Amino acid sequence: MKHLAERARQVIPGGVNSGQRSIPGLTDLVITEAAGARFRDSQGREYVDYHAAFGPPLLGHNDPDVGAAVAEAGRTVDLCGVGVTAGEVELAETLAELVPSVEKVLLTSTGSEATFHALRVARAATGRRLVVKFQGCYHGWHDAVSLNVISAPEKVGTHDPISTGILPEVLEATLVLPFNDEQAVRRAFAEHGDDIAAVILEPVPHNVGCLLPEQEFLRTLREECTRAGSVLIFDEVITGFRHHLGGWQAISGITPDLTTMGKAIANGYPVGALGGRADLMELFSSRPGGPAFFAGTYNGHPAVVAAALATLRKLREEPVHEHVFRLGERIRTGLAEVFASLDIPALVSGYGSVFVGYFMTGPARTYDDLLRNDANMFIGYRRRLLEHGIFELPLNLKRSHVSYAHTDADVDHLLESAATAAELAR
Ligand code: PLP
Repeated sequence: MKHLAERARQVIPGGVNSGQRSIPGLTDLVITEAAGARFRDSQGREYVDYHAAFGPPLLGHNDPDVGAAVAEAGRTVDLCGVGVTAGEVELAETLAELVPSVEKVLLTSTGSEATFHALRVARAATGRRLVVKFQGCYHGWHDAVSLNVISAPEKVGTHDPISTGILPEVLEATLVLPFNDEQAVRRAFAEHGDDIAAVILEPVPHNVGCLLPEQEFLRTLREECTRAGSVLIFDEVITGFRHHLGGWQAISGITPDLTTMGKAIANGYPVGALGGRADLMELFSSRPGGPAFFAGTYNGHPAVVAAALATLRKLREEPVHEHVFRLGERIRTGLAEVFASLDIPALVSGYGSVFVGYFMTGPARTYDDLLRNDANMFIGYRRRLLEHGIFELPLNLKRSHVSYAHTDADVDHLLESAATAAELAR
């Protein structure tokens, strides 16, 4: 029988269902099983998974409690596309209780839909045109934000779309600024403040590994947005629930006007959410003539809602954060020691359950700093880890994640393997 990956390429463009899954050297990867901290492929290889599907399964793959809740939902209710279910109400109440900025909240199926609607309502509320984003941040696949994520050095400082087919006027309506640079923010507001509808950011830009935000930078964003009447949007699709049940806004004490969420809310089931100030969210009110339109056939799907409620319950009742933070810290400290002992220039960054080893010297404050990372070493090291049954995505600047299902023995194995992998990759 023809290999499944070959069959996939015949009928699926590129053989995978997301541009982010097309990995050089791994084009024949067919996943057959996933449970806890591990997945298996069709060749019978087992990997300890630190890629974690770009972040959702904070509890680990196929968590039994989440699975049971989904199965139970399937026995009682299905998507009816009218009215509301008890689960949707409970989930909305839980999100409003947990996340400081959230007074009202709407569910989507993906993070991209949440950021799309956040920008739409910001423009609806302000009647303004411009959106500010930051170099290195990713907010999904839609046109307004599909630019300047991982940019080549010569593209930094210019519009750098991640796709063709985007109207130039859409790109021009997005201003791209360097992260952690409050002077750049102040200049942008001085020049364009009257026309800035929204500022959107990953409070921790994890789509380039991990740039930790400086408190003064976040304070400046809050101050300038308030002064200019612009909408501040924290895209907490990665940071939300993974770093804190209240997201980075609970950690930093800086409250945005709107928050987008996704990934870890439902441990891998397709969910997103947009929440925030009631006056902004009410613009989506579905009464006829409501000024901003919001819809989605699958929004609030009972199976997904059940997964989210079960996930959030477990995050609140069990020492999940304590566990993943402890293992994350062990990995960051351990990797830094391994690379130092081999005299390999490296900066191990991350927060909580997230870690990334850059192969560079000096600090990482802005995207420009990450241009010093040795991409060949970064990817080569991760390719070598595959030989040890460890999966960290072998693409430049990608972060890795620990889940509740990872153990101290998994961390020991990673740290032992890291030395050999780094030695061979240098
Ligand atoms: N925002 C951030 C910070 C993300 O990392 C992602 C996805 O990786 C998105 C938005 C888009 O979410 P989705 O892929 O669910 O559309």
